[in-house]
Amino acid sequence: MNIITKDWPWPHGFSGRNSTNYIIIHHTAGPQMQDIDEIFQEHCNLGWNGIGYHRVIKGDGTTVQGRPDWAIGAHAEGLNYCSVGVSLEGNFEGVGTPTEAQIQALKDNIVDLKEKYPEAKIIGHREVAEIVDNPQVATACPGETLYEMLGSL
Ligand SMILES: [Zn+2]
Repeated sequence: MNIITKDWPWPHGFSGRNSTNYIIIHHTAGPQMQDIDEIFQEHCNLGWNGIGYHRVIKGDGTTVQGRPDWAIGAHAEGLNYCSVGVSLEGNFEGVGTPTEAQIQALKDNIVDLKEKYPEAKIIGHREVAEIVDNPQVATACPGETLYEMLGSL
């Protein structure tokens, strides 16, 4: 599949994961088309290591590589050490719905990641709090609309 790789200056480098037990699906809870270079810079300005997701699916269905797939991300507190994070642009909690192009791209990304990590289970970010038994990391992410679609992908 076609993934756009950006030439971003990651400020803190990366650490690798020892295992990949989960593919965690997110929404960005923002607009469905964002300037991803600007977001990268904003996150760097906050002292973060650029973007915490491994892959971002834009509203037009384009997939952008965030952190390398093998690296530890910053997208799901408690499971970052053993998961890959894929985020769709948009807010799917009682607001928007993923575009057809995003749904197709999500399917393609899941196939691609399952080839790399056959043992990994696909979950929505909102499932993490229960898995790690920490209500403090509870979230509506990836939104009800997208979450309900996950079972049929
Ligand atoms: Zn999330």
